[in-house]
Amino acid sequence: MKPQPATVPSAADLRLDVGHGTDRGLRREMNEDSYIAADPVFAVADGMGGHEAGEIASGICVRTLAEMPQLASGARDATAGAVQEYLLAADETIREATGSRAGTTLSGVVLVEQLGMPYWLVLNIGDSRTYRFSRGGLTQISVDHSEVQELVDAGQISRREAAVHPRRHVVTRALGTGYETEADYWLVPVEEGDRILVCSDGLNGELDDEQIADILATEADPQAAVDELIQAALRSGGRDNVTCIVVDATNVPDGSAVRTATSTVAADHIAGADETAAARTDVLDVGPDGELRSNS
Ligand code: MG
Repeated sequence: MKPQPATVPSAADLRLDVGHGTDRGLRREMNEDSYIAADPVFAVADGMGGHEAGEIASGICVRTLAEMPQLASGARDATAGAVQEYLLAADETIREATGSRAGTTLSGVVLVEQLGMPYWLVLNIGDSRTYRFSRGGLTQISVDHSEVQELVDAGQISRREAAVHPRRHVVTRALGTGYETEADYWLVPVEEGDRILVCSDGLNGELDDEQIADILATEADPQAAVDELIQAALRSGGRDNVTCIVVDATNVPDGSAVRTATSTVAADHIAGADETAAARTDVLDVGPDGELRSNS
């Protein structure tokens, strides 16, 4: 009988290996996506607003998250409530900086520990996504805040129809603009061999779940997986900025794993926004009726 992957017994025994990257894509003048890949925070922000405003919004968002004390301390003690405080601070700063003309999505994970057990604290606001690839299967953990997701939930269209729906880019929640600034949170136990994928809609807008799963199954190295996901999105048309983070969790019961994870994600990757600032913008405009579009 094949042994089932076990829940990782202790956060101290957990090793994280991380790949990350972003690309402007083939159609956009700028890259408005930003990301943070710094243990214990791995998140992607897709800015909306156009004319560099979206870049400002997503950049503020990830830089605000980079102020979480857990990045410096390595502590696994973040909570949904504490993360939400940082999101509200980001929301306020974005509104001040852009006059509520720009917004950003945010999705990702924070590695936390409860009673000695490691969990993925998954967060989402908007239509960037967090997936878990486990035992060969890909599952979307986050639920999009989008018009088409509401139609899917209401049973009016299928997921397949949603992927090509003309209003698929209209988001119903964001930071920095609109009235809904509360993110959704999920607490998912970390299991041996977990592979977390966080991405902007420039990835899942070009590739379906099956194509994404194939790449995650084929490319063992997390950076190679990220690079191939981005290249595949570009080959498919690259109509939007595309950003991916892949986090692999491995059980290393020798007590040295936390240090390894900390040094794997170097400080120079704390804010992807800074790294690629020369590159970013989505033509994501606030539409004539005030609707939020993560794309145009
Ligand atoms: Mg996008």
